[in-house]
Amino acid sequence: MSSLAAARADNFYYPPEWEPKKGGLNKFHGQHALRERARKLDQGILIIRFEMPYNIWCGGCNSMIAKGVRFNAEKKQVGNYYSTKIWSFTMKSACCQHEIVIQTDPKNCAYVIISGAQKKTEDYDVEDAETFALPADEDRAKLSDPFYRLEHQEEDLQKKKEAEPVLVRLQKVSDSRHSDDYNLNRALRARLRGQKKKVAQEEEVSRKMGLGIRLLPSSSEDAAVASGMRFSSKFERNRKDKRAAIKASSIFGEPSTSRSRMLELESKRRKLKVSSASALLAGNIKPSSWTQSRSGGRK
Ligand SMILES: [Zn+2]
Repeated sequence: MSSLAAARADNFYYPPEWEPKKGGLNKFHGQHALRERARKLDQGILIIRFEMPYNIWCGGCNSMIAKGVRFNAEKKQVGNYYSTKIWSFTMKSACCQHEIVIQTDPKNCAYVIISGAQKKTEDYDVEDAETFALPADEDRAKLSDPFYRLEHQEEDLQKKKEAEPVLVRLQKVSDSRHSDDYNLNRALRARLRGQKKKVAQEEEVSRKMGLGIRLLPSSSEDAAVASGMRFSSKFERNRKDKRAAIKASSIFGEPSTSRSRMLELESKRRKLKVSSASALLAGNIKPSSWTQSRSGGRK
C-alpha cells in the first residue's frame, strides 16, 4: 500500500477536490466505513477476524487447528435464542482451504461446529479418570434443604455402604506398600548400585577399545550382521600380498634396500586406499544396509 493509499485507509487524506458540502470522506469516495469488510453487507454478511475458541481437527486434511488461530470469517445472523442472536462464522482453513462453519450457542454459552471440522475431545469422563465427581454447586445448595436431605438420605447411605469396602481395601493396599520403608529404600538403592556398576564396566570396556562413547551390550543380531559383512576380495588379496612380502624380507636389510622397500609399501598403500574408496563409491560395500540392520539391532 502506498503512503497515499494508507492515508486514505485511515481517512486522514482530504483530496483537493473535496469540499465540506460533499459530506464525509467515505461518502465522497463512495465507500463503506468498513471498506473491504463490508463488501458482502447486502447479503447480511460482515467479514470479521474470528479466533478459534478451542482446538479442532480440520475436516479437509485432518490436521489440528489450535485454539487462538485467527481467520477472516464471514459473520451472519442465522437465528435467535429468545432475544439473543445466533451468529454463524464461515471461514476457510489455512491448511487446505476447507470451509469451516461455526455457530454460537447462546443456550450453553458455547461455540458449536456446524460443518467442516471436528472438535478435539479434551474433556474427560469422571469414570475414565477413576475419580469421584464433586457435587455441583446447586446440589450443595440443596443440601441445606431438610426435605431434600430427607428424600435422599437413604440413597446416600446406600452409596456410602457400597463405597466403603473399596475405600478400606485401597487404604490397606496403601498402608502395606508404605509400612516397610526401610526395605523399600534398600531395594531401590541396591538396584541403583547395580546400574552404576554396570555403567562403569561398560565405560571400562569402551575405554579399552579406545572409544569415546559407551557401547550398548552386544547382541546375537549384531554378531550375525558382522559375520555377514563381506569386504572386497581385492582388499584381502592386497593385504595378504603385503604381509607375505613383509614376512619374506629380511629384517636386517641394507639401509638402501629397506628404503626402497618402504617406498614400495608406501605406493602400495596408496593404491589400496584408492581402490577401497572407489569400491565404496561403486557400492560394492553397502554401508546403507549395514547401518540399517545395525540400528535395528541396537535400541
Ligand atoms: Zn485442512
